[in-house]
Amino acid sequence: MRVTTVGVVGAGAMGSGIAALAASAGCRVVLLDIPGDPDPASPNRSAPARTGLQKAIKSKPASFMEAAAASRVRTGNTADHLSWLAECDWICEAIIEQPAPKQELFAKIEALMKPTAIVSSNTSGIPMAVLLEGRGERFRRRFLGTHFFNPPRYMHLLEVIPTPETDHAVIGAMRSFAERTLGKGIVLAKDVPGFIANRLGVFGMVATMRRMEQHGLTIDEVDGLTGSLIGRARSATFRTGDLSGLDVLAHVTRGIGATTGEDFALPAWVHDELVAKGKLGDKSGGGFYQKTKAGTLTFDWKTKEYVPQQRLEGGDIGAAIRLPVAQRLPAIKSIPGALGAFIRDHVVDAAHYTLTLASQLAHDIVAIDRAMEWGYGWEAGPFQVMDALGLDWLREQFKAEGLDIPALLDLAQGSFYRQGEYLTFDGTYEPIPGIPGRIALAGLAASGRVLMDNGLSRLLDVGDGVACFEFRSKMNSLGQGVLEGLEQSLRKVEQLGFNGMIIGNEDARAFSVGADLSLVSFAVSAGAWDDIDASIRTFQNATMSIRRAPFPVVVAPAGMTLGGGAEFTLHAAAVQAHAETYMGLVEVGVGLLPGGGGTKELLMRFTGELQQYEEVDLFAAVKRAFKLIAFATTSTSAFEARAFGFLRDGDRISMNRDHQISDAKQRVLDLAPGYLPPLERRVRALGREGIGNLEYALWAAKEAGQASAHDVRVGRAVAYVLCGGDGTARDVTEQDILDLEREQFLSLLGTRETQERIAYTLKTGKPLRN
Ligand code: NAD
Repeated sequence: MRVTTVGVVGAGAMGSGIAALAASAGCRVVLLDIPGDPDPASPNRSAPARTGLQKAIKSKPASFMEAAAASRVRTGNTADHLSWLAECDWICEAIIEQPAPKQELFAKIEALMKPTAIVSSNTSGIPMAVLLEGRGERFRRRFLGTHFFNPPRYMHLLEVIPTPETDHAVIGAMRSFAERTLGKGIVLAKDVPGFIANRLGVFGMVATMRRMEQHGLTIDEVDGLTGSLIGRARSATFRTGDLSGLDVLAHVTRGIGATTGEDFALPAWVHDELVAKGKLGDKSGGGFYQKTKAGTLTFDWKTKEYVPQQRLEGGDIGAAIRLPVAQRLPAIKSIPGALGAFIRDHVVDAAHYTLTLASQLAHDIVAIDRAMEWGYGWEAGPFQVMDALGLDWLREQFKAEGLDIPALLDLAQGSFYRQGEYLTFDGTYEPIPGIPGRIALAGLAASGRVLMDNGLSRLLDVGDGVACFEFRSKMNSLGQGVLEGLEQSLRKVEQLGFNGMIIGNEDARAFSVGADLSLVSFAVSAGAWDDIDASIRTFQNATMSIRRAPFPVVVAPAGMTLGGGAEFTLHAAAVQAHAETYMGLVEVGVGLLPGGGGTKELLMRFTGELQQYEEVDLFAAVKRAFKLIAFATTSTSAFEARAFGFLRDGDRISMNRDHQISDAKQRVLDLAPGYLPPLERRVRALGREGIGNLEYALWAAKEAGQASAHDVRVGRAVAYVLCGGDGTARDVTEQDILDLEREQFLSLLGTRETQERIAYTLKTGKPLRN
């Protein structure tokens, strides 16, 4: 069962997001909504779906991974174009959350779907049995729930809800398509209201608010306590509420309350003072918090007014937050006063609810932990949290609160997890099911597969004669230690006779933020210019040794891949990027240019491609590279990085971050037999004529007020390198351009404005316009 064509019905927030994700992944997509006009001849017949698509195209953060993917979506309406669904391999229903329209739609789909199609519903809470009323056996076998999280591109979790009648092959096919092609983390959930993540997540929100009122705390205090401190997302309770929307929160709590019969009512002030007044969170410009020019204000639920935010920072809590999660949680046992009483009450509420419901929601505790990690951004799922708190402590708290002891707690022998095993609902311990296709670097390191470790970087044996070089510095910045580690690792891989090497890591945010600016700044203030020249040389040697290695080096960027991080990537034999790769040569922001081979590599690539044609204007290639560098253009996805030219056609993209290292390993193994490093390249450099053209563009930008005098100076340095200096046109080698990169880098570093930019960025993390 192969899914290449996808039908999505309902072009609202979710449907258009799911369509955008599938199209970004490369599927052909049909997106239908209700007719916009009863007149079959009206040009507005398909307007609702078109509007949904347009919203997705314009959404921020972007729903599509590249603009071109939108052309893979065909919009239509359910009156005229339902037959298009007959071509689809997977049909996903994402219409209004009411049983009757969904049932009616499924009846029509049943009549036209191809026998091999999979049909799913994105319902948040209508039982599958209700949706299936009136459907035949064939349909039932091919139907399941697929509960995406908003926004579908960015939220990793997909809850898959099979019914007792769903074919196993359908579950398997949906799972592998969603994991491989859409990149989601799959959790199998049972068919109960709210499934796993929303049931526990929303319970947590409501319970937090009640305890906040009981203990008389503020929203700022509660967010300080219910975020990282207890292994949850940093956005904690109320920031999360503002991000997802208070109307959505009100809707979901009402829905789960009605279907479960449990009390999920939000405090009256949330409805009366916020939702009813249109204060819905970030989308309406304010909710629990409001951003103003003077700073952030927080809603005071006692006085019903906004007051200046007073973050709960420093002290014992600030110190605890810096500890690893397993040590952080026990710290809440000794927090004094109302803050301590509140957070202990809250974790006890959450633990008791989770233990009581676990076997109704999921088939195992691992699914519950993963659902909360992937759907709500928790660092540790509820069972890991309970292990960290200690099960005896929990038992005492339950007793003190007069709560029953849930049976699952009594089954546990000391902890829910132990040495690679988890507690099943039957009371046995079984191996934790792996995430298919994932190579866990942290796990390999823990099991001793370390070939080199110098504190700032390490080399791991990932099996089959492939090693992975991992940066370990802060934000994976590139300094002396990492560069030395790389040289050692390349030697080691060669000595061991391995097939090749990956450069990659598991960091959630950054592959690498680039060269360590603090070292540069320090050397400048010490006037150590020779040392700086030597350091740039070392950096260039490092990137060139990636390129020249006698075995394939596959670079696996994900997240921020900036400056030097991008230069490492550009020098790979092949790239295996995660779809969410934000790549750019951003050095001009600090008044510098890419000096680690990045300027050279773009010139060689773009000119190299063009000069195969006769009578072609090579300036087009220089201009392309110049624009990327001078505007510090950064991709918003790996697909965009490819469109910009940072990735080549032969470079590949992993949709799922969990697969990336194993995909990169496979790429090494594909390239290794008979591998030879690329040969030295020569290209035609344009010399002073090219510089003149670019200078004209810089001058125009300055006249238009878009560039400062220093921007022009930096831009001129970039132009100088890209044109091979200001002589006549000539053939240049890679080394010629590397030498120019170094010379211009040093000359920019000698200017006051560049030094000011560096100092400012180091202090604030932001660029300085001077
Ligand atoms: P929405 O209101 O943004 O969009 C619903 C779309 O469906 C609208 O464009 C509407 O015109 C269309 N529609 C309504 N009836 C239709 C019909 N009979 N035929 C074709 N189109 C029809 O809603 P949404 O937030 O996108 O939610 C869609 C589904 O996804 C619901 O079942 C919801 O419970 C579920 N869901 C929502 C979220 C969320 O965060 N918003 C998360 C997970 C699941």
